[in-house]
Amino acid sequence: MIYLDYQATTPLAPEVEAAMRPWLGEKFANPHAPYTAGREAAAAIEVARDQVMRALGKSSGQLAFTGSATEALNWAIKGSVGEDGRDEIVTIATEHAAVLDTVQYLGRTLNVHILPVGRDGIVDLDALRHAVGPKTALVAAMLVNNEIGVVQPVDEIAAIAHDAGALVLCDAVQGFGRIDLPRHADMIAISAHKVHGPKAIGALWMAEGIAPEPLIHGGGQELGLRSGTLSPALCAGFGAAAKLLLKQATEDREHVETLWEQARLPLADWTMNGSIDQRYHGNLNVRREGLDAARLISEVRGVAFSLGSACASGSGRPSHVLRALDLSDREARSSIRIGFGRYTTADELAEALDRINAAADAQ
Ligand code: PLP
Repeated sequence: MIYLDYQATTPLAPEVEAAMRPWLGEKFANPHAPYTAGREAAAAIEVARDQVMRALGKSSGQLAFTGSATEALNWAIKGSVGEDGRDEIVTIATEHAAVLDTVQYLGRTLNVHILPVGRDGIVDLDALRHAVGPKTALVAAMLVNNEIGVVQPVDEIAAIAHDAGALVLCDAVQGFGRIDLPRHADMIAISAHKVHGPKAIGALWMAEGIAPEPLIHGGGQELGLRSGTLSPALCAGFGAAAKLLLKQATEDREHVETLWEQARLPLADWTMNGSIDQRYHGNLNVRREGLDAARLISEVRGVAFSLGSACASGSGRPSHVLRALDLSDREARSSIRIGFGRYTTADELAEALDRINAAADAQ
């Protein structure tokens, strides 16, 4: 299989698998246990925490491991509203469901503003200025969009939010390790499986002095902020993935640029969804007039690529992101997402694009 769905998940790095293995076998102790084997597991978790902090470029604040980025985002949102009489949340129409659905759920009791985006997928900063005010508790803005790869100006968003005294949460799941992270977000959510780490572990970084109310109560792990026994294997895997991100940063970025340049010509007959300039180059979300994208995916055997997002793909609903760009249903249904990265070879990409083009021509 040629794997071109890097926004859904990424292949586990061999170095990550090796780092995880001992913790899945003989080193099984509970990391919160007081004897040597437990303390050894706890130490491995602290090494991993440090590795993830470094990859985030953070030397202050704290990082708590969670069961996923979805959990980190739920926690950051639900735990940050309702204080100081601030009862408003502001976010963007193209956010991941982990943010949008959480905000909409809270909208039953709080005021919610969901900002529109332009045809380019970028939020209108004037609309943001209008929406934030003294009642705004939190502004949630993603860095790189998982469907269309568009990059939001999170630091500019943060400046506007901070002027109104609101906190800023950044969903950096798709940007972490790939592009520069925002410097002024108060909380950042990330996920290991998008950076060649294991699934079912995420993290929330919180700036100094910021700690949302716990979402999960219990044994008081993670400084009492996120209860539940941590998995040393998952933490060690996340740490190893983060270490690799730093080690291979230049190589990974150059590789993605080369593949992006290579994809341009074969995709010349396709229209890009979202901004061409403000985007991460490992994501191509493109459409072709009259195409049945769902049919195309089943016709092109041996190539894994996607409709809109992995979550939207199963549902049969046109993607909320493509709809937010004001694409018609027809345009949304003729769009595909191609995502590549560290382990994609130039030959694989060429072969896959040939097959995709041939099948699209034949429709
Ligand atoms: N945010 C974005 C932008 C994502 O792409 C994803 C994963 O699809 C998530 C959040 C959720 O991450 P996780 O799979 O760790 O819950």
